Amino acid sequence: MNSNRDDFSEPIKRALAGRAGHRCSICKTPTIGPSDESPASFMNVGIASHITAAAPGQGARRYDSSLTSEQRSGIDNGIWLCRGCDGIVDRDAVRFPPETLKRIRRDHTEFARLGARVEAEVGLIAIGPSIIAGGQVSRFKASGIVLHLAFFLKGSAEDLFAFVRRFDTQSPLSRYVVLSELGLGGLLTEAPEFSREGASWSMTFQWQPDAPRRAVSKLAGISSRTGRMISGEEYWKQTFEAVLQQPLGTRFDNMESGSHLSELYETLSGSTWFEHLVKCELVRLASIPAPARRGGQASEYPPLLYVRHVLSVRVPDVALADERLRMEVEFDLEGHGRWTGDLTLHIYKRDALRKERAKAAWITESIRRMEKEGRALPTPTPPDGWDVVDGYPD
Ligand SMILES: [Zn+2]
Repeated sequence: MNSNRDDFSEPIKRALAGRAGHRCSICKTPTIGPSDESPASFMNVGIASHITAAAPGQGARRYDSSLTSEQRSGIDNGIWLCRGCDGIVDRDAVRFPPETLKRIRRDHTEFARLGARVEAEVGLIAIGPSIIAGGQVSRFKASGIVLHLAFFLKGSAEDLFAFVRRFDTQSPLSRYVVLSELGLGGLLTEAPEFSREGASWSMTFQWQPDAPRRAVSKLAGISSRTGRMISGEEYWKQTFEAVLQQPLGTRFDNMESGSHLSELYETLSGSTWFEHLVKCELVRLASIPAPARRGGQASEYPPLLYVRHVLSVRVPDVALADERLRMEVEFDLEGHGRWTGDLTLHIYKRDALRKERAKAAWITESIRRMEKEGRALPTPTPPDGWDVVDGYPD
């Protein structure tokens, strides 16, 4: 072994393994388990991997000459991996630059903190607009779907009790459940039943997960970039992006409608759960009917009205490029089937969001005043930068 290598000490290796909950930080496979060599034997198949290489030279990835030897062999420069993932990380510095590995380590530490109570396949469950819990479907039975809720990411058990208690008086469109793991969402047909089960909760509910959709195949319209007529995937993407990046409360003709992605980004882009939360929001927009437009009829269509099923959502890098967040999505589209594509969504910073909302509120208030005075309505001019592309149902 090269004596110039800044290897980790045994205590640091043990600390990395322990802090990772003895699971690979990338694929979550357990890195410790029984060995058949003796009844007391166990084996460790994890590796304390260097974020920036332990030594320079050929094949060294991410070597950083500005670090001292102590920093290079310090715990901050380590990440716990299984052999397979270590091999991949060790050969691909482009896909795994130091910042990415540090983000993976931070997210995995949060995962390991919850590890005792949460299974790896846990999904997020949104129950109405103010509750998001982590958990999974435990049974499908005649009386409904039974969920096991392990923890709350937004809201609390008290909020869930209040949701059930006030069920009849709430707006029908806010009485929904979204299961991000299954990519399904629907309106509840009656108040769910909710009970405590030891340290967690169980909820049984009945719903209608089949909102109507429209076929994507014949969709065509004007490109917001070039003004040309476009159709097919190019127009689909524009339609999806328009719906997903329109924040709640910024459409003067429908203040109740819109997406939460900008706020999710602002508050939770650093969290382990960010990608899950983004998926949960996409599932909501693809399955819960949009509120009625101002002066319009209630619609049965969800805002993402061509998406039958959100199969997967990946955010490879949470850093914005030109104020846009890129994501890779896989949708099941009505009239087309499986479709994968890249979407880039404008993310509004807090101030920009406040301004957009103020504009929309101002227009709404002006229209209301003119209606009250019985004056003829001029067609409101969209404010600067307003996205006039419209993916919403009439
Ligand atoms: Zn792994």
